[in-house]
Amino acid sequence: MIATLPEVKKFLQSSPVNMRIGGQWTAAANGKTIEVRDPGEGAVIAHVPDGGAADIDLAVRAAREAFRKSGWAEMPANDRAVLLHRLADLIDKHAGIIAQIESLDVGKPIAAAAGFDIPHAAQTLRYYADLSVHTRRREPIAVSGFDARTVRFPFGVCAFIFPWNFPFLLVGWGVAPALAAGNTVVIKPAEDTPLSTLYFCRLAEEAGLPPGVVNVVTGLGHTAGAALAGHAGINSMSFTGSPEVGRLIAESCGRNLVPVKLELGGKGAAVLFEDIDVPAAAQALAGAITLNTGQVCCTATRWMVQKSIFDKFVGAAIQELEKTPIGHGFEAGTKMGPLVSEKQRRRVLGYLERGAGSGAEFLLRGGAATVAGHENGFYVKPALLCGPADNVCAREEIFGPVAYVLPFGEEEEAIELVNRSRYGLANSVWSSDLARANRVAESLVAGNSWINAHNLFAHGIPYGGCNLSGLGGGVLGPETLLDYMRPQSVVRPLQ
Ligand code: NAD
Repeated sequence: MIATLPEVKKFLQSSPVNMRIGGQWTAAANGKTIEVRDPGEGAVIAHVPDGGAADIDLAVRAAREAFRKSGWAEMPANDRAVLLHRLADLIDKHAGIIAQIESLDVGKPIAAAAGFDIPHAAQTLRYYADLSVHTRRREPIAVSGFDARTVRFPFGVCAFIFPWNFPFLLVGWGVAPALAAGNTVVIKPAEDTPLSTLYFCRLAEEAGLPPGVVNVVTGLGHTAGAALAGHAGINSMSFTGSPEVGRLIAESCGRNLVPVKLELGGKGAAVLFEDIDVPAAAQALAGAITLNTGQVCCTATRWMVQKSIFDKFVGAAIQELEKTPIGHGFEAGTKMGPLVSEKQRRRVLGYLERGAGSGAEFLLRGGAATVAGHENGFYVKPALLCGPADNVCAREEIFGPVAYVLPFGEEEEAIELVNRSRYGLANSVWSSDLARANRVAESLVAGNSWINAHNLFAHGIPYGGCNLSGLGGGVLGPETLLDYMRPQSVVRPLQ
């Protein structure tokens, strides 16, 4: 086991790790706390405040006050960018600490957090900080008879609710454009994984962001989350999570006429044609379904394989899945950690039962796993299923290391199978015939189509969903910065 850093021990021992409201470390108004567990051991590692409506109200007021009075909103974009760059540098400097906190909280391997989640969040801050410097706040409109321009202002208070699979990465993706645009933010992290978001507040303070610019209220979804989404004092709402909760958020925002961005679930497919390098594709897709223990909204969960390579591909994929090292996130060789909670493990195991009960066949059994020395952790083994295309495991988001493989004959059949899904987040096409790959990529209805790879994220390439997978423009694109700005036309008639 990798040793826990003294800074991480100290951070956890400050339990309860308090919330950040208006520049103060704050307990919940009701005095209650919630437990935070290491899913690799099943043990409680910290407590955080069980924030509720009163705390949300305080945080929204603090964010409004900071928007009006802290100077953040009026600060020249390049000065704000300096502070955001400083924050990104501090994230890099503390990456080892944050990666351990994230690994303990989510269960993911430290190397995965340190190699991707943490540096990618820092890079997102730099991307939007730089973009904001080069974004014109005033643009003339050439319309005959008028002297007109568009002026862009920050909205005010931007609210964020995040899920538990990539807590730190998603904070970066979410709040970076909002802050770069000059807004203040209130964040409600997932109750299972609040710790790295609280650490983010420490770094924001150290970087010199004025008090009240970044506020975090920890707590449950139906209390703190619902209070934030329904608060009349927020000016924009960004939600990442399940479609079921996304609907509730959109309803609340609809009542208050608050603009909303939703990044929701998925049931991504990979379409594999017969001209691929089979072992390489099998390795890549086994890697995709076990990444973050399958708790990845956009990953490839339905594998559509051309009939002529079906058996060869399935054999290679089973080999890859079987050799995935499962273990605690702090074990150096671990590629796949536990699921985030016992509740999530019950969900995944329940899907396997329901899938088998309604006609799916196990090509690889999967199921609960026991890891020596960590017997109380929430581990599962990867599973591979096949069977009818309308099986529950082929239709619904499982959010675990479970793939469903389906054979197809011709291109049109594969496209039809993929587009049956009500989700629309991300799919991939695998072929050495680039003309075909591009044609099929454009025929798949989703926010993202990847070619000869799956799970691709780069600053400047928009990432979002359609249909059940979300609305409102997504994240990571240059346009995302404008999503956090309010346009205003200023017009004078020319006589
Ligand atoms: P979830 O919807 O259960 O919870 C997400 C967040 O919403 C949590 O912070 C939770 O406390 C809060 N919440 C729950 N009930 C609420 C309510 N009534 N009002 C307000 N807030 C409430 O999702 P989850 O289980 O944490 O995460 C998994 C889901 O997130 C999956 O569907 C996954 O695909 C999706 N996801 C999507 C993206 C994306 O970019 N599209 C990224 C990551 C995860």
